[in-house]
Amino acid sequence: MSERGSASIVVAGAVALAAMVAALSGDLSRVVSARARAQTAADAAALGAAQELVIPAGRAPDDVARDFAERNGARLVACRCEPGTTEAVATVEIEVDLPLLGQSRIIHAAARAVIAALPGIEGLQPFFVARLMCLFEAVDGLWIVSGFRTSAEQAELHEANPDLAAPPGSSNHELGLAADLGYPTDAAEGAAHAHAAGCGLEFPISYEPWHVEPIGV
Ligand SMILES: [Zn+2]
Repeated sequence: MSERGSASIVVAGAVALAAMVAALSGDLSRVVSARARAQTAADAAALGAAQELVIPAGRAPDDVARDFAERNGARLVACRCEPGTTEAVATVEIEVDLPLLGQSRIIHAAARAVIAALPGIEGLQPFFVARLMCLFEAVDGLWIVSGFRTSAEQAELHEANPDLAAPPGSSNHELGLAADLGYPTDAAEGAAHAHAAGCGLEFPISYEPWHVEPIGV
């Protein structure tokens, strides 16, 4: 075999190796991108289910998780999302083809989402809670001093303070459509009033700057 011949065999070998490396890294990058997609899908599924748990829109939380997983190109394997809790753990899978290896592989990903429930939202209407969460995200440090009240609680308040608390049967608190907010600072109060309309909220009583209601109800 001539020197020239063995040199071209070496070149051919190098070219074949380079092609194999390129194909392998192609497979590898498919795995890496599938892993990223699976994680995005798991994050979305867990967050969607947790939101449904905290602000129910009338769907089963695991249906919401399945929906979010599929919209992100994955399959929901499991959702630990018990009604009555504020935490969802979603596991999803994605199948990825690996042409060089001539096979496909299943990539799994899991994510956990916890929605911090606002203390005091019990009994308030879900769409009102969603608007309050919008306001609480825009302004730091707010809290709910008083939300839903039974008519007995309203009667008690009215008796103690007839000027400030409406008589029972006439307060939106009893309908789950009003909340009294606590403000950490005057600046936070001003910010809450400035952001209210953007969140679908209003402070309809001028001498009660803490009393907030949803607009248009
Ligand atoms: Zn009030």
